[in-house]
Amino acid sequence: MTENWNTRTKLVHGGIRRSQYNEVAEAIFLTQGFVYNTAEQAEARFLETGPDEFIYARYGNPTVAMFEERIALLEGAEDAFATASGMAAVNGAVTSMLKAGDHVVSAKALFGSCLYILEEILTRYGVEVTFVDGTDLDQWKAAIREDTKAVFFETVSNPTLEVIDLKAVADLAHAVGALVVVDNVFATPVYSKALENGADVIVYSTTKHIDGQGRCLGGVILGSKEFIRGTVEPYMKHTGGSMSPFNAWVMLKGLETIDLRVRAQSASAQAIAEALVGHDKLARVIYPGLEGHAQHAIAIEQMGQGGTVLSLDLKGGQEAAFRFLNALQIAVISNNLGDAKSIVTHPATTTHQRLPEEQKVHLGITPGLVRFSVGIEDTGDLIADVKQALDAV
Ligand SMILES: *Cc1c(COP(=O)(O)O)cnc(C)c1O
Repeated sequence: MTENWNTRTKLVHGGIRRSQYNEVAEAIFLTQGFVYNTAEQAEARFLETGPDEFIYARYGNPTVAMFEERIALLEGAEDAFATASGMAAVNGAVTSMLKAGDHVVSAKALFGSCLYILEEILTRYGVEVTFVDGTDLDQWKAAIREDTKAVFFETVSNPTLEVIDLKAVADLAHAVGALVVVDNVFATPVYSKALENGADVIVYSTTKHIDGQGRCLGGVILGSKEFIRGTVEPYMKHTGGSMSPFNAWVMLKGLETIDLRVRAQSASAQAIAEALVGHDKLARVIYPGLEGHAQHAIAIEQMGQGGTVLSLDLKGGQEAAFRFLNALQIAVISNNLGDAKSIVTHPATTTHQRLPEEQKVHLGITPGLVRFSVGIEDTGDLIADVKQALDAV
């Protein structure tokens, strides 16, 4: 029944577990443990856990389970495991399945902490990692070997918004039996077609569009029931990266409105990008929804539209970028994204400050680059604000 609902219905009603009080809004089960009626029942619980039988909040909790069920319905995945942050999800997804001697191929344009896990942590435990330029299929072809266990990449990279051809990389990975693990934050679960394009494991930082109002950290790993319950859950429940019930409740309520928010944000992002193309203060307008974007066709095939984030490269480098940021009156300067509020970031001096200069150049993180996460404010107001701020540069 639930599986046949359309997306917006699933997002409002999916996964509901009502208590004996029959509350309308989902309850926050802010409890660490669960009382057993008898010693025998406690013993039985520890022997075999059924889906509704909770033992301890690190293993599972009714509010967290509601969130997991609802996000799995949205993505069309068999199962999901909710985590304390997006990074706990990335770490859990890759670390739970790998062991010393395994080989992984990863795109090199990664969120800083993702790069740290692939480059520093996995290699410390004897996993071999080969990095490739994610948009170059020949490099994937050359790097994937008979013994490759997994490939990892962000389907849309941050902050330069390169789109990786998921279907093509998945075909190469599956030919050797490797699992395809994607960080799908920029695609968002609303526009994700990751499963049908060949991803085996999908990771989100729920801190972004799923909360959508800048309140809590969270993450989620989606995949087959066998992978989530057999591989991810044992690792996560014993290493302590589970999502808190309160944060799960915030994320659950975020899912209720995510379709409305993300569609509005994405339409605004497209309109802003179109309004800015060719502006004389800008060297580049980077947005996958623009026909001039190098992977525009892949973006449309994979997501149907260009997403909620665009990047602007100002002529005049850092000085011009800073003047632009400081002149904006609606968008706030911060480093989150996917929020109801528009947020601007200067990656070269903040999120990517520590990258060596040549790597910034290589990744296209120029001194004039500004990342613009489009919120749910009025589109006309946002365009007017960006234009007056560009005039002030
Ligand atoms: C934010 C982000 C993360 C990390 O998520 P946290 O919730 O901050 O731990 C990972 N990958 C991408 C692409 C992100 O944008």
